[in-house]
Amino acid sequence: MTVTKTTCPYCGVGCGVLASPQHDGTVEIKGDPDHPANFGRLCSKGLALGETLSLGERLLYPEVNGQRTSWDRATALVAEKFNTAIAEHGPDSVAFYVSGQFLTEDYYVANKLMKGFIGSANIDTNSRLCMASAVAGHKRAFGADVVPCSYEDLEEADLVVLVGSNLAWCHPVLFQRLQAAREKRGTKLVVIDPRRSATAETADLHLAITPQSDVALFNGLLSHLCGEGKIDGQFIHQHTENVNATLVAANEWSLAKTAEACGLALPELEEFFSLFARHEKVVTAFSMGVNQSMSGTDKVNAIINCHLLTGRISKKGAGPFSITGQPNAMGGREVGGLANMLAAHMEIENPDHRVAVQGFWASPHMAAKPGLKAVDMFEAVHDGRIKAIWIMATNPVVSMPDSNRIAEALKACPFVVVSDLTANTDTARLAHVKLPALGWGEKDGTVTNSERTISRQRGFLAVAGEARADWRIMADVAKAMGFGGFDYASPAEIFAEHVRLTQLGNDGSRKLDLSAWVNADYEKQSPRQWGRARPFEDCRFQTPTGKARFVATPYVALPEQNMTLNTGRIRDQWHTMTRTGLAPRLFAHRAEPYVEISPQDATRLGLSAAEIVEVSSNTGRSLARALITDAVKPGSIFQPMHWNGSFAHASLANASSKAQVDPVSGQPALKSASVSMQRFAAAWHGFGISINHFTPKADYCAWRPISRGMAFECASAEVPKDWGVYLYQALGAGGEVTSLQSHDSKSFRCAVVKEGRLVFAFVASAAPVEVSRDWLQSRLGQQVNTLEVLAGRPQASSDDQGATLCACNAVGVKAIGRFIEANPTANLESVCTGTRAGTGCGSCRIEIRRMMHEAAKPLAAAE
Ligand code: SF4
Repeated sequence: MTVTKTTCPYCGVGCGVLASPQHDGTVEIKGDPDHPANFGRLCSKGLALGETLSLGERLLYPEVNGQRTSWDRATALVAEKFNTAIAEHGPDSVAFYVSGQFLTEDYYVANKLMKGFIGSANIDTNSRLCMASAVAGHKRAFGADVVPCSYEDLEEADLVVLVGSNLAWCHPVLFQRLQAAREKRGTKLVVIDPRRSATAETADLHLAITPQSDVALFNGLLSHLCGEGKIDGQFIHQHTENVNATLVAANEWSLAKTAEACGLALPELEEFFSLFARHEKVVTAFSMGVNQSMSGTDKVNAIINCHLLTGRISKKGAGPFSITGQPNAMGGREVGGLANMLAAHMEIENPDHRVAVQGFWASPHMAAKPGLKAVDMFEAVHDGRIKAIWIMATNPVVSMPDSNRIAEALKACPFVVVSDLTANTDTARLAHVKLPALGWGEKDGTVTNSERTISRQRGFLAVAGEARADWRIMADVAKAMGFGGFDYASPAEIFAEHVRLTQLGNDGSRKLDLSAWVNADYEKQSPRQWGRARPFEDCRFQTPTGKARFVATPYVALPEQNMTLNTGRIRDQWHTMTRTGLAPRLFAHRAEPYVEISPQDATRLGLSAAEIVEVSSNTGRSLARALITDAVKPGSIFQPMHWNGSFAHASLANASSKAQVDPVSGQPALKSASVSMQRFAAAWHGFGISINHFTPKADYCAWRPISRGMAFECASAEVPKDWGVYLYQALGAGGEVTSLQSHDSKSFRCAVVKEGRLVFAFVASAAPVEVSRDWLQSRLGQQVNTLEVLAGRPQASSDDQGATLCACNAVGVKAIGRFIEANPTANLESVCTGTRAGTGCGSCRIEIRRMMHEAAKPLAAAE
């Protein structure tokens, strides 16, 4: 088999992947042992990549108004519509909304076309939702968007502080590296997160701060460090500025005031401050919990201030470290693919930079000012200022805040183009023109991960249908619009141009200089980090004075709100599920939309476990399953952002998020929406499995692929008059139907067997359905005992694995529980070896440890 070295297309860790297409059409996926990000490890999402490559959901041909067309016609139409809008309304009447899923070469061409040729900076990206606040914070402190750490710093640190980062679920391989370092050297871990996430469960100290109080916490820390004399006076004097004004502002933050603002007890706050003060080698890593906030940029600077004060920056094992969410958010930043950047770390507001880049591109119309950031861009679509928008490799109808308004805007927009690999996303459904893009296994280019390592993504599959590389689609449109400068024959040519641009006028004043790639063989290129491992170890920052800046960060508390909605990711899904949603095993861990709610709030709302809840605000509503847990505090709820119209009905988490943004970065505050919540009065709940796709009409409905078919969960306020009629689509397709019904019709069970095999089963009840879902799903397409199917569980309980916990090896909670019960003294390693759970990517080990802990409680009580 041919083995292709490529890079995972999901999170910002940027793991190396070995992909080997097999004779039977499948693709074997392994971690690349030589890649410096993962050294052979992959998480559950990466390991399942081979299961996401089917063509079933793919967009295979260009379409105009839903009709297949040729590339020539589609390209000409896009060029004509964009040219017309520009001629009639000016260059700012058009926009590109692109993606951190783009390869650097795609990003480069998009940025060049919009800023250098169309002459507008209306190009923004879904990375605005991910790390714009980190970018803005870096620029304020360092003068440039340069990440001052490397992954090995997490392994070299004595203390790691994770702020707003569920690293165990969102960057699992990096978390595994951290865990290995903790075992080896006893690294202390502090997690700062309002929610007790999976990561927080493993921490030495978890600070469940009041939502959005991070600025107060780090102002308090700065004040404490100063009071304790933990100051690197020489570093501050020689290499920083604005320390005094910052300290004056921070000094009001006494321990007591900080504890009160953050909702913490004094001892836990003192413990954190003391840990930070006494460890020289400390890395503060942060992610969406910091960035997705109305004070995101201030949070970033409040963190950086503490590192500058102590001189703990760009030293081995020390520094503030932004962990990016997307595979190429960093590459997009490097080419300038945000509305307020230019290119190659040059500034759009700097006339010298504009002249230099315009000369380099030989471009006719250079954007002279920043363009519209994501939220403002869609607002301009909504109010008609933007007449034509091209959305590439992203699904804003799901991922943007106030998602109903985004859909409204696109419906009203005169011309919407979507390039994507998936035919029917919530956004693609609203496009006039759909252009098929290459998928992960088909495209070639580069990506840059969170530690600035540039890796190759390489194609190893034949192109699907008539799909084309994004850079080529844009270059063809650019040429059709009448622009020169887009005659690229390969991504290698584009990358070479990007490399030359990083060198342009760069006398060392810009850290981003890819001179080392000038003579590199693009095809053979190995992963390589740009800049030094610690780019500021020379203490030369990119500000006009060469000094790093302290930034005073005033704290603004969240106003009183009914309930605070925190949205985020889960372990086994990626973004809007257009790819991970194709792999059945990635639904095993979390099968349907859910909301975490505290026991106190559940009691207040009269809510029982697994009932359906409605989350709403004045922007919209969503329905989801209630997961009652003390992981969230009263007044706060957590809802995953993944579910959308392709997998659920009425379950868009972002429907209830207002479009409020950080004033500096423009990043939306997706973790602190003010919402209301109430119990949904369901008259019945249902669960079903089907060989064929089946979507029942129900107020709440979520479906997922399973082996040999699909499963669905549903609930509704009204009981159907006749279950036979309600299920006609499934029951009327032939086969032997066996059913049971209660006299009040609220309870109904049926199984349909065709040619000796189970093709459909459905259970409805007044309360949330209690059946062994994983077992029932495993019976689909098999010869079955109909009575067992109607009971919803096997007669012998030992056959029941329970809900899958380990997605890699398909091990269920009941199987793990039985092993723990039979081996009460087994340690984590023995449980994992004995059950195979946790021996794949290792992400489920936290939950296995929790199960062991819970099982040990009664034993401890008995002793
Ligand atoms: Fe992909 Fe997982 Fe690695 Fe992220 S941690 S790059 S999702 S394999």
